[in-house]
Amino acid sequence: MDPILGIDLGTTNSVVSIIKDGKPELLCDELGQGILPSVVGLDSEGRLLVGQEARNQALVAPERTVKSIKRRMGEEATITVAGNNYSPQEISAMILRTLKDRAAKALGRTCTKAVITVPAFFNENQREATRQAGEMAGLDVVRIINEPTAASLIYEPHSERNERLLVYDLGGGTFDVSIVQIEQGVVEVLASHGDTHLGGDDFDQLLLDHVCDAFAREHEVDLREIPTARSRMLQAVEEAKKRLSFEVFTTIAEEFIAEKGGKPLHVNMVIDRRQYEPLIEPLLKKTLTRVDAALDDAKLNAGQIDRVILVGGSTRTPLVHDLLADQLHQELHSEIDPDQCVALGAAVQGGLIGGVDVGPVLGDITPHTLGIRALGELHGMISDDVFSKIIPRNTALPASRSEIYYTACEGQKVARLDVYQGENQNVRFNQGVGGFCLEGLDEKAEEGNEILVRFQLDLDGILTVTAVERKTGLEKQLRIDNAVTRFRAKSQADAKAKLATMFGQAGEETPDDRSITEAGKEAAPGEPQFDEAHELIAKARRLIQEASTEDAAEMRKLVGELQEAVAKADADRVQQIREQLDDLVFYLQDA
Ligand code: AMP
Repeated sequence: MDPILGIDLGTTNSVVSIIKDGKPELLCDELGQGILPSVVGLDSEGRLLVGQEARNQALVAPERTVKSIKRRMGEEATITVAGNNYSPQEISAMILRTLKDRAAKALGRTCTKAVITVPAFFNENQREATRQAGEMAGLDVVRIINEPTAASLIYEPHSERNERLLVYDLGGGTFDVSIVQIEQGVVEVLASHGDTHLGGDDFDQLLLDHVCDAFAREHEVDLREIPTARSRMLQAVEEAKKRLSFEVFTTIAEEFIAEKGGKPLHVNMVIDRRQYEPLIEPLLKKTLTRVDAALDDAKLNAGQIDRVILVGGSTRTPLVHDLLADQLHQELHSEIDPDQCVALGAAVQGGLIGGVDVGPVLGDITPHTLGIRALGELHGMISDDVFSKIIPRNTALPASRSEIYYTACEGQKVARLDVYQGENQNVRFNQGVGGFCLEGLDEKAEEGNEILVRFQLDLDGILTVTAVERKTGLEKQLRIDNAVTRFRAKSQADAKAKLATMFGQAGEETPDDRSITEAGKEAAPGEPQFDEAHELIAKARRLIQEASTEDAAEMRKLVGELQEAVAKADADRVQQIREQLDDLVFYLQDA
């Protein structure tokens, strides 16, 4: 059978992929670009532009450019581009045709069969319009599937297990949240909510306003009113926004952006994540209300969800992770590139239809969270044992993240950096992997002198830690060669010791281990006892996937009850359910 393309025809961007050697793979253009902006235009000479070129002219020549055509699919609309009329299907067909040509170039052969994805909320008209667009592009659309279904398939290509997934999809122009059930190989969307006008473009707009307002205050020139300046600034703020997902501050520098009184004006502004996050927080809170609505519709609580999957470029924003994890008390999955997830899932669907054997999809990830020891609040008290997380577990490798820390006192000359791996809020229960001192800090600095800490973890598990005094640029680096493998070895030793204890061969207990248990007894939310509950929940979830229907149902019930007890900080009830769940987990692990 001919290979089947998987196509994510997105509002902002579109992507095409295929199964190669049993794995879904993105197909790129000659420049190595996998993402095609879903923008179509005609240039001043009437030449067709699709993708980045069309996007570049969108702000300066809006009458010759069409964006977000996906929003019009299914309508009897006429779209006028430079005086020519098109239907929404025709515009979409131009995007699909470009993807088809890209695939032919990348593969050295023409592929006509495709699986195309659509939002779960698309009605029959919208689905039919998408199918027609495919046909106009010369594609044989073998199936139209829901985007959350595609995202689920990429995480669960062999969907024999019974699972419930929550797919949170925040793209450039739209937001969707869906509850998906996989039962005996059948994927079903139980509920879907969203906002067709909420996404990363809004974040760009808010940042643009923030920067342009500051510029206008200083120079009395509004860059938003000058089309070329506005277009340049919009691109600059989008790039800055993306950098802020990995860096704590970034510089926006645009030279000769405008002029005043014959003198050139330049933008040169440092944007801090702390300034940016409050701008977008209200919009993200709005997405959380939709998450609740989707759970309500599916008649489920967060504890009954086995896996939360993040899809869409905007889910790279750290605040999305923080708010969602807080709301759902769940580990989030973003191991697969959120821009590619849906297209890759569509390729998996194509592979399944074509009878191709699709192997495991997940690449290398960080098995544990990496961070440093910091001064902060632990169980309501100030402690210098706080584990401050920098690279969360399950992050795809290679990974780079940075955070800002502050000196604790005036005239502090040295900052000590101790690096740990683990999931506990208290570093004493995690694994130390190295450390160093940044010496020679500015002695005249007040308390709160900023130290930038950057973690870079490469594919071989080599961690490079860099500390920089922001004010002076004083810098020191540490390379930890086998941070990841070292921890794996310790986890194995821990697991062995635990098994030995379970089988009555009491393991050695260190004074530190004892204090875990003692501190846990009167724990409040977030204390070690609840951390253990969270770990047990994560373990149970992994086992649910392989359990019989009956055991899976029992485990889901206990997980739901345990989450509720943790949320209410009911320590006795937590303990009671933990014992039941522990028994079941132990029995299933052994089975
Ligand atoms: P999508 O519609 O899924 O292709 O997502 C596109 C949106 O993701 C655009 O608004 C991008 O600016 C945004 N995006 C891409 N990369 C990042 C990033 N690193 N951090 C935040 N937003 C991003």
